[in-house]
Amino acid sequence: MSASAAGEPAPPDLGLYLHVPFCRTRCRYCDFYRVGENRGRMDRFVAALHAEMDGWTALHGRAASTIFLGGGTPSLLEPQEIGGILDHLARRFPFAPGVEITAEANPSDLTPERLAGLRAAGVDRLSIGIQSFVDRELTLLGRRHDAAHAAAVVDAARRAGFARLSIDLMVGIPGQTDGSFATSLDRAIDLAPDHISLYLLEVHPGSEIDGLRRTRPRLFAGDEAQRRRYLAMRQRLTAAGFRHYEISNFARPGEECRHNLRYWRCRDWLGLGPAAHSSVDGRRFRHLPDLEAWIADPLAVEAMESDAAEERVFLGLRLEEGIDLALLAAAGVPRDEAERRIARLADFVELEGDRLRLTPEGFLLSNPVLAELLRPSGS
Ligand code: SF4
Repeated sequence: MSASAAGEPAPPDLGLYLHVPFCRTRCRYCDFYRVGENRGRMDRFVAALHAEMDGWTALHGRAASTIFLGGGTPSLLEPQEIGGILDHLARRFPFAPGVEITAEANPSDLTPERLAGLRAAGVDRLSIGIQSFVDRELTLLGRRHDAAHAAAVVDAARRAGFARLSIDLMVGIPGQTDGSFATSLDRAIDLAPDHISLYLLEVHPGSEIDGLRRTRPRLFAGDEAQRRRYLAMRQRLTAAGFRHYEISNFARPGEECRHNLRYWRCRDWLGLGPAAHSSVDGRRFRHLPDLEAWIADPLAVEAMESDAAEERVFLGLRLEEGIDLALLAAAGVPRDEAERRIARLADFVELEGDRLRLTPEGFLLSNPVLAELLRPSGS
């Protein structure tokens, strides 16, 4: 542990998450907090973000090891605005050596000039929301780019100096087949990113995609098809040198998203912007998903209930590294009962010494498996 000049232990480092809630159009499956793009609103957002950074005085001076601009669509901000935000952040939360600075980006916003601007602003990792390399699937999702543009953007990002690139893909897109999914995966691997995130399409009640499912259910894959694609993708990516380090994430060794690892390992992070959540010094809190309310008072937060021991199990088991079995006891499941449950869930969890992990089948069914592992004794 490092020590401050006065001999006190230095406070733990922080991850910083910035929620940029603007989107140019609405994707049909979206359930995130976002608002329409509007220059005046964006100017007021940026001013409030600077005010929020200034306001967290009790945390000023804590080192920032990871920064993540998520959304919404951070790539709608001008690169100079992002540069100004990062410069201001660094004055309040000194950047640790080797700080990781990720921005989520929509392929349709990324021109060579904008990519160069983002790199010059200090962003060193891009998470590009491609979702599919099949044009008809992108149209059905309501995305603004096509496959050729997405591929060109990855090349342009590399030319702009981004060595760390992540591609998002989606399983369960309406009309997707095993073959079209394999096409997207092959295309992604050919582009040689160091990280691929793969999400199962969630159909939220009331979303546009929910309406499509009701009128054209045959376009949607059943559970068995999703399972087949997920397992095939895992096999394909691990054969290509990626490590399946988290339920939805694959990385070349050493290229894991260090910011997201903070969440799963329950390390401190501060979330800035509307709808952002935080976990600092054992306290969980969030900003309400309301841009105007947040602009009016960017330091207003709402406390969140959480059970720290359960959370360590729930989040830790998302990772390939798993958890120490002692964490289950801390969450209220005595060791003998834990061993009985693990034996019953043998296809979904594995125990090696005191290390408990989900199997690939367990990753697929993580919610019911975790619910069973953490079930209160006697229920
Ligand atoms: S870009 Fe992301 S946040 Fe915006 S509408 Fe699409 S899915 Fe939602």
